[in-house]
Amino acid sequence: MSRRRPLDLVVIGAGVVGTTAALAAARDGLEVALVEAHPPKPWSASDPDLRVFAFAPDNAALLADLGVWPQVLAARAQAYRTMRVWDAAGGGELVFSADAFGAPQLGHIVENGLLVDRLWAAAGQEARLQRLCPERLAGITQDAEGVDVELAGGQRLRARLVLGADGAASRVRELAGFAVDRHDYGQRGLVAFVGTERPHGDTAWQRFLPGGPLAFLPFADGRCSIVWSLPDAEAERLLAIDEAGFLRELTRAFDARLGEVTSVSARAAFPLRRQLAKDYVAGRVVLAGDAAHVVHPLAGQGVNLGLRDVAALRTTWRDARDRGSDFAAAHRLARWERSRRSENTAAAHAFDGINRIFSSDAMLPVLLRGHALGLADRLPLFTRMLWRRAAGL
Ligand SMILES: Cc1cc2nc3c(=O)[nH]c(=O)nc-3n(C[C@H](O)[C@H](O)[C@H](O)COP(=O)(O)OP(=O)(O)OC[C@H]3O[C@@H](n4cnc5c(N)ncnc54)[C@H](O)[C@@H]3O)c2cc1C
Repeated sequence: MSRRRPLDLVVIGAGVVGTTAALAAARDGLEVALVEAHPPKPWSASDPDLRVFAFAPDNAALLADLGVWPQVLAARAQAYRTMRVWDAAGGGELVFSADAFGAPQLGHIVENGLLVDRLWAAAGQEARLQRLCPERLAGITQDAEGVDVELAGGQRLRARLVLGADGAASRVRELAGFAVDRHDYGQRGLVAFVGTERPHGDTAWQRFLPGGPLAFLPFADGRCSIVWSLPDAEAERLLAIDEAGFLRELTRAFDARLGEVTSVSARAAFPLRRQLAKDYVAGRVVLAGDAAHVVHPLAGQGVNLGLRDVAALRTTWRDARDRGSDFAAAHRLARWERSRRSENTAAAHAFDGINRIFSSDAMLPVLLRGHALGLADRLPLFTRMLWRRAAGL
């Protein structure tokens, strides 16, 4: 065990979720260490990250509060003002528009690599935050007062709380013995940047196809970032076919809503699964982001849910500070866990249901979903409620 005064918080994993948590904690006066296995790749405008997020307004506000969002906007972010969702088989179209909601935009499309780069740089400016990278977690042991963290390089840290933000294959989750409930969708998310004949019109588009949803997200350089959920074998085939064949199939799959798809960048695919930790708290070890919950990307909510875990934790430690009590007290963590787990679990199962209903080609679901989309579009209060939930308002 280290003989130095314990840290308040050790965060394992410097993705968007972990770095935001570490930065927010340091700004709130906690002594923090942030441990990351791989040095973040410096962001370059000419080499966009294929992992692109539809970033919700509440999370933009969180990063604005930390002084990072203006830097993201200045580098590259695309506001989207309209969202169109329709079904290949059932008809009906649901339209969300910022104008109708009296909002400047519905959200922004941003690259994961840009967010991490700017957050990591901001973390480097904090006197209360030490970044340990490249460094890996090797072991965790805890007692009633704190947690001992052993790193692969031999260093040992002692902290009052450890936050596992080390992604879907979380080592923190494994070492601390958290159980998970896992469901493989048998689908992959194929991602790429594509050029289109007509401009994207600041619109996020999503078409439900029998194999899974296909999203065209407007990107700041005029192209679209696509996320195409496909059965595994189909994804393999579409990764392997030549460019002309891919453009042809993608244009058809997207119903040529923006005319022909004219160019495509490198393509990559991620396996899609629902993975939910049964608990988020084990003593003084907590999980957030993909370490706690992985959801289907169809609603673009993965990182948004993870940052809401962080925002709620921040409320917890600020409240403890105001009352002069232990921010890692069991009852506080239990309250945080209850609220975050119920929201994340409900979201994961809702996306599951949508994926299942819209991937079915049985007659009843096809008829119902066409009616449902058309009906929802005629209910402005309902669409406003849906948007407010997705936007975290
Ligand atoms: C195809 C696809 C499309 C998506 N689209 C969207 C979208 O539009 N909107 C959205 O909100 N979400 C989207 N997501 C989900 C989103 O990518 C994730 O929810 C988000 O990136 C998770 O962030 P995180 O910080 O929790 O984890 P990660 O980004 O996985 O970061 C974990 C970090 O921990 C580090 N690490 C791992 N193990 C260790 C260790 N032992 N020691 C030290 N460090 C370690 C890793 O190097 C990494 O830096 C999408 C996902 C997919 C697959």
